[in-house]
Amino acid sequence: MRATVIYGAGDVRVETVPDARLIEPSDAVVRVTRAAICGSDLWPYKSMPASDTGRMGHEFIGVVESVGADVQSIMVGQLVIAPFLISDGTCAFCREGLQTSCLHGGRWGGDGNDAGQGEAVRVPHADSTLLVLPVAEDESQMARYRPARS
Ligand SMILES: [Zn+2]
Repeated sequence: MRATVIYGAGDVRVETVPDARLIEPSDAVVRVTRAAICGSDLWPYKSMPASDTGRMGHEFIGVVESVGADVQSIMVGQLVIAPFLISDGTCAFCREGLQTSCLHGGRWGGDGNDAGQGEAVRVPHADSTLLVLPVAEDESQMARYRPARS
């Protein structure tokens, strides 16, 4: 599949990367239909050393293509949105509504995870990480789902 890869400040390329696939039974694979560029994407774009590579994009919308055996609330064909971070929904922090501090979570494009600026994403902890949108995939509705300005 195709996805963005960053090689350092100002050096982002669209390349062929391994296909997103289910690894854990709590995973889903989402085909990305929309991806945002967050201010946090711009930090590495402006300052990342040229010594490492990484994937970009941590805010995306897409259609669920497959789910693992343990996924209960997310179904194939649903339109979903992925928030800033991955969260398990079960740890002490998640139960307190502090998913950004999840003990078993992660970040898109880091920790071996896919990222949103690509054709598809493996989503860990799909039941907790993904939010189902109350609309079908409909371009006339998509403009409503844009990040709030801060
Ligand atoms: Zn958690």
